[in-house]
Amino acid sequence: MSKSASNKAKSNKPTPKSAIKKPLPKPSKPAPKKKTSAKPIVKKSAPKKASPAGKPTKKAAKASAPAGKPVKADPKKAVTPQKTVAPKAAPSSAKTASKPSESKPPKTSTPPAKPAPAIATKPTVPAPAPVPVPPPVPALLKIIAPTPVPPPPKPAPKPTTKAAPGKVNIPLFPSEPIAPAKPPVISTEKPPATKTGALYYDSHMHTPLCKHAWGEPEEYCAQAVKSGLKGIIFTCHCPMPDGFWQIVRMSESEFDLYVSLVQRAKDAYKNKLDVCLGIESEYFPGYEKYIEDLHQRADFDYCLGAVHWQAKEYLHRYEQGTIEGFRRTYFEHLAASAETGLYDCLAHPDLVKNYHPDSWCFAIIKNTVSTMLDRIAKTGVAMEMNTSGLNKSYSEMNPGNEMLRMMAERKIPVVLGSDSHRAPRVGEHFITALNNLAEAGYEEVSYFKKRQRIDLKISDVISSIRRAADANA
Ligand SMILES: [Zn+2]
Ligand SMILES: [Zn+2]
Repeated sequence: MSKSASNKAKSNKPTPKSAIKKPLPKPSKPAPKKKTSAKPIVKKSAPKKASPAGKPTKKAAKASAPAGKPVKADPKKAVTPQKTVAPKAAPSSAKTASKPSESKPPKTSTPPAKPAPAIATKPTVPAPAPVPVPPPVPALLKIIAPTPVPPPPKPAPKPTTKAAPGKVNIPLFPSEPIAPAKPPVISTEKPPATKTGALYYDSHMHTPLCKHAWGEPEEYCAQAVKSGLKGIIFTCHCPMPDGFWQIVRMSESEFDLYVSLVQRAKDAYKNKLDVCLGIESEYFPGYEKYIEDLHQRADFDYCLGAVHWQAKEYLHRYEQGTIEGFRRTYFEHLAASAETGLYDCLAHPDLVKNYHPDSWCFAIIKNTVSTMLDRIAKTGVAMEMNTSGLNKSYSEMNPGNEMLRMMAERKIPVVLGSDSHRAPRVGEHFITALNNLAEAGYEEVSYFKKRQRIDLKISDVISSIRRAADANA
């Protein structure tokens, strides 16, 4: 139903993040990575690190405080409270700036396959489990979809690996190759720069449909032009069946609205910015077929795979054993996601460093990462350099420079994304990210269009951003 198109842009320089119209609840303050001391959540022992049992509270408290934000419901706030009460301490540090982290449910709670609303099933804990209220649709959105669409039939096939409520035997890494890995397509053409010199794209940003992003798509477009970009790709969180982490994504019934919203922005910025349609597509073992079908529902330019360990369903199923073990599981899934052949690129590839960020130590996990990167390199799938990592608990881009060097050694293509959930962040820190890439050994940086990878010289991209930003200043 939707397609993509292209135009051009002009621009200005990356704007600093703060300015924002709506009082945002600060999602997650850059967490102090050093201060933590409590005990972890992880039930089994957490040998190497102590984690804060109490720390969660602090953040939670803060997060839950109504920031005074008016309209949209902040999913983060909604869930946070639970965290404090969650039976098993939630990874306190787990919060990330852009993605609300959810509290983890009691182990016995609803299995992912069940359609039950995520939060509803919460525990016996007295704590108020705020049920996420769908945020009011922004005015502009209402224009497009004035009438609430009835929930569509769920296309999603039940995950075969789903564990029964008793969760007896859930293969940790169910290997069920659903889609034969297809070799990535690399475009041989080198799209020209715009009149203002813009050449590159910001390939990761959201819309209010995910319930934790603010601003109309056109506001993101305006910022992109100022930032010296040629185009942007909206990659909002995909719908998922069975109520999977429902509070941070569009519903099934909003999928068409999402596509039309991006189309609206594309039309509004015709000849000024190339607005493209993408999707941040969840990877969770058992849902491969659903994702495969989802990718056929629209004419996507870019399908960005993402493993979100913060999802309560993910924690429920995989958070067992040690902290390091959980991180290894995450990287195992990252490699597995590339091997499905479903995605063009893997989002924020070391996001798990925000799981108990105080104890994150790359040296310890390096061998695991090395093996994981070897597997990803074989698939040809690209990996993202996500600049929003600077705003997360473990304040560093995703991936960090050590991992980036390992990616460079394996010649894994990299795509930049700001992961903006607010318009002012579009294109943020791109020059820094490009310099990091160059220092890591890269000569090119990529983006996708029509699901074909386009590689550009880093030096050309840097100069294009500066030139276009100045031209649009
Ligand atoms: Zn998000
Ligand atoms: Zn993500």
